[in-house]
Amino acid sequence: MRKIVKTILMAGVLTGLTLQPVYGAGPLSGAAGAGSRMQAATRVIRMGGDGDSTGTQTADAGQATAQDGTGSPGAGGSQGPAQGAGDITDAVAWADQAAQTAAAAVEQAVADPSFQEGMAQAAAEQAEALAAANAAAQAAAAGTIRQLDPTKPMIALTYDDGPQSSVGNRIMDVMNLYGGKCTFFMVGDRVPSHAAEVIRMVNEGFEVANHTQNHKYLNRIGAAEIRSQVEACNNTIQSVTGVRPTLMRLPGGNKNATVLANVGMPVILWNVDTLDWKTRNAQSTISSVLGKVKDGDIILMHELYSATADATERLVPALVSQGFQLVTVSELAHYKGVQLNPGQIYNRLP
Ligand code: ZN
Repeated sequence: MRKIVKTILMAGVLTGLTLQPVYGAGPLSGAAGAGSRMQAATRVIRMGGDGDSTGTQTADAGQATAQDGTGSPGAGGSQGPAQGAGDITDAVAWADQAAQTAAAAVEQAVADPSFQEGMAQAAAEQAEALAAANAAAQAAAAGTIRQLDPTKPMIALTYDDGPQSSVGNRIMDVMNLYGGKCTFFMVGDRVPSHAAEVIRMVNEGFEVANHTQNHKYLNRIGAAEIRSQVEACNNTIQSVTGVRPTLMRLPGGNKNATVLANVGMPVILWNVDTLDWKTRNAQSTISSVLGKVKDGDIILMHELYSATADATERLVPALVSQGFQLVTVSELAHYKGVQLNPGQIYNRLP
């Protein structure tokens, strides 16, 4: 039933179908029919109870009922009361049938080729717009630093712990639609199972960056293992995409002197923490960013959660409408004139 109601609404919205007549016609005519039947039934009862119980009169009553079009030829006066009850049942059946007729009308509208064409066309147009945006992103990806307006504010949205195709592809779609880019700090051992997604990142100008091979807290391991965690991640991403990351982010942000001495890459942390991993709530993630970010900020999110994709789909248009350019960390450094050095920590730029 809920499905039918939903279908009715969709039919109305998408085809401009006037719902009122479809809904109204059946029940209304049903009610009218019931009314005339009730009148007929009353007449039959009155005639039956006249006291003059001749066969002719009974027959006349039956005829009168038949002429009223109520479809009970031969109903006699003595059968009046029974006929009345029958008419009420009949009226209910009528209303029932009217409802069925209305539902059938909606089904017919939905089955109408023009309705289906409209649906298909809307879907095709949407897919076309997205394909064009993604193609434009690919064409523009040749150089990783895009042509941007240095006088307008820029912020870097960043996503850790992926790749995770179900989320990352949604993030890239909305970024492309609004001309934004972002940075993915990825765990090396996840990359082969999401290779297509990671290749897409590179093809469409997103920044692929290092988040160690196995998400190790580097402050808990020695120099050799720190180096191997960083190297293995760079090797994996390079082998899949052909691009070697130039930036890294420490799992948990955990650091010490040994870590900074051995990572061998600029360490990009953040100054806006959405806590999306903790809340898994899109609105909470949005609220931690909108109205709070400023030019040069680096925002921390995580690629693992569909709520983060939900948040991104609403954040991107909102931030762009507020005049922010959504950029990769490397683009941000480039336009802010900040040279990124190995073993040095950056929370925002400059
Ligand atoms: Zn992490």
